[in-house]
Amino acid sequence: MNYTPYELRPDLPEELHDLRVLALDLRWSWNHVADTLWRRVDEALWRHTHNPWMILQTVSLRRLKMFTSDESFLRLLQDPRKEQANTLEADTWFSHAHGERRHVPTAYFCMEYGISEALPLYSGGLGVLAGDHLKTCSELGVPLQAVGLLYQQGYFRQALDGDGNQLAFYPFNDPTQIPVVPVRTEDGEWLRISLEFPGRTLQLRAWRAQVGRISLYLLDSNDPMNSPADRGITGELYGGGAERRLQQEMVLGIGGYKLLQALGQEPEVCHLNEGHAAFSILERVRSYMRKENTDFGTALAATRAGNLFTTHTPVEAGFDRFSPALIERYLGRWASELNISMAQLLAMGCSHSNVSEEPFNMAWLAIHGSGFVNGVSRLHGKVSRHLFLPLFPRWPEKEVPVGHVTNGVLVSSWDSPESDRLWTEACGKERWREGLQSIGEAMLKVSATDLWEMRSRNRQRLIAWIREQHALNQPATNLLDPNALTLGFARRFATYKRPNLLLKDKQRLARLLTSTDNPVQLVIAGKAHPRDLDGQAMIREWIQFIHEFQLQSRIVFLEDYDLLMASYLVEGIDLWINTPRRPWEACGTSGMKVLVNGCL
Ligand SMILES: *Cc1c(COP(=O)(O)O)cnc(C)c1O
Repeated sequence: MNYTPYELRPDLPEELHDLRVLALDLRWSWNHVADTLWRRVDEALWRHTHNPWMILQTVSLRRLKMFTSDESFLRLLQDPRKEQANTLEADTWFSHAHGERRHVPTAYFCMEYGISEALPLYSGGLGVLAGDHLKTCSELGVPLQAVGLLYQQGYFRQALDGDGNQLAFYPFNDPTQIPVVPVRTEDGEWLRISLEFPGRTLQLRAWRAQVGRISLYLLDSNDPMNSPADRGITGELYGGGAERRLQQEMVLGIGGYKLLQALGQEPEVCHLNEGHAAFSILERVRSYMRKENTDFGTALAATRAGNLFTTHTPVEAGFDRFSPALIERYLGRWASELNISMAQLLAMGCSHSNVSEEPFNMAWLAIHGSGFVNGVSRLHGKVSRHLFLPLFPRWPEKEVPVGHVTNGVLVSSWDSPESDRLWTEACGKERWREGLQSIGEAMLKVSATDLWEMRSRNRQRLIAWIREQHALNQPATNLLDPNALTLGFARRFATYKRPNLLLKDKQRLARLLTSTDNPVQLVIAGKAHPRDLDGQAMIREWIQFIHEFQLQSRIVFLEDYDLLMASYLVEGIDLWINTPRRPWEACGTSGMKVLVNGCL
């Protein structure tokens, strides 16, 4: 299949064609070989957006023409392009381990992807984990392709008013400014997927983002062929009510599966990252029934073994549930095509056979249709076995077939330049790729002075960045101390994470923060869901504490926590605060990110 990019810069000089190739490969979000190049094209835009594709769409033709005769620029362009080509051709961990066989890529379904702030299709941990999975698969050469939604607004953007009230904004994701391109068929037509909705056919447009070796396919409903209401289905991430969520999940699961089929890539293994994507199970069964001319039960048994469900929720209220009436309205058609009764279809989302009253639970559907189920930490595996017990009546809890695979992070995408240098010298370039046992000794040989040097530089850069962000509000030299112990709390403001536990004894905290003998300071960031009023009250409590105790130079609350901010914080904070209520943090990944930078 041929992917023709948007021709938004038909005037891009031939000599600079490689700029487009580099800009469209999101590998720049974790591999920094081309940073200097983009900084050279537009320093201000680079600092502000870290979005090469946007820079390329914005830069003037005059400037581009100037570069065509600039030897040093052309060299800057050549090196990362060579590096990219070499990397894509090189052997990988996967080709060494499993090279003999050709693999149909595993399909990875997720409601959100946090790859870069330049592609704002995420809200928090789940999305950032999915982003790190794609990056890691690219690095290791694991054959995978991902499916998600292209949101017109994505998750809300946060600002705070003077009293600490959270304000929510929904800026438009202009698809010409984010690094995605339409998927086109061989004869150049924009690939569309159609999905039967009650009384209408929904048209979905297919997009593709390139994440190194991995393709991330995205669907959006903002097609003029759809009704105005339907065009908004892929508007907000985690916005709207139950019906909107159901529509989104049908687009993700059913639309996503159809998209892979349309690309000729019917997967052998589908990974459902959270229950949002569980409708793909039904579409997969339907497709199998047609192809093999068989009945529902046989098709479910045959395809089930190839579905894998990762659950991320430690409380039952966290599962998406829909009323049977809503399911009947939207999925009645699937029941008849699967040749089962509505009661049988509803039973797929229920814990037992009495389906009349129970809401349709997406996690139950995912379990009924998956051959392997896992939680995201050892403790969460245990919690999940308890949550899923109703599906396994009379089973001993410890035998409920739910395992765990602890979440992880792509270490090399969270390290600072200084930490990369330090660990490369100590443990070599390929240190994170193979078993870690052998590098333990090498790590211990790093001197305390070198570690401290790395920590101090990381912190100083964070404080400089914060001062720059706040330059308009406060005289910079007043704000934080580049050489003081810096505590950080950056995560979603949800009550179970206890973002205000530090405020339990306000006098004492104020005393600690104003001590001149042992200076300590605090950086905070995090959004509360627009409907989570308790979470928002906790933000307000912090802002009021800062005012009440006049701590403006010792505490900053950074608005609008996102991936770019996370990268500065993960590098610069000395002590990362993590105070969730046990066992409600299913895993938690930010604490894993900071370690490589010598943070506690
Ligand atoms: C890692 C990360 C998260 C998740 O952090 P937790 O520790 O799991 O709460 C959320 N948001 C961003 C931007 C992140 O980078």
